[in-house]
Amino acid sequence: MLEKLCRWLRLLGYPTVSAWDIVDPREHEGDEDEVLLELAAEGHLLITRDGVLADRAGRGAIRVESGDVAGQLAEVLTFLGDEPVMNPDESRCPDCNAMVVRVEEGNPGPFEVTWMCPECRKRYWVGGHWREMEAFLDRVRRLMDGAPASSR
Ligand SMILES: [Zn+2]
Repeated sequence: MLEKLCRWLRLLGYPTVSAWDIVDPREHEGDEDEVLLELAAEGHLLITRDGVLADRAGRGAIRVESGDVAGQLAEVLTFLGDEPVMNPDESRCPDCNAMVVRVEEGNPGPFEVTWMCPECRKRYWVGGHWREMEAFLDRVRRLMDGAPASSR
């Protein structure tokens, strides 16, 4: 499952759709590959751990091999030639893939700025968890630089 990778890609601003968003595996067992291949043919990048599926999609696919999300993100960003940088003004809601909206007035607590998802109304802010996210992105950066992965 690449659900965590999907959430991180959204946070970094990439519009990302999970197979589970488009196909209910209980109703369409085995059909999701065809849907994903169609999307890849339309120009979307298919990210999968399935080597056979990646081969079928050809150049429109990347097969991630790492078992952990930092490694997976490093593989995808290396493929895209992008840096692991997060800018909340360009982030998407990790739950719904909608672009979050900056809110500058009427914010609760000490926060002058928050970001809100127009779909699920969830709020995001630069709080204590921000440091953890930055540390995670630092780890991704080191992986991309080819340094040995540090302990989790
Ligand atoms: Zn949302």
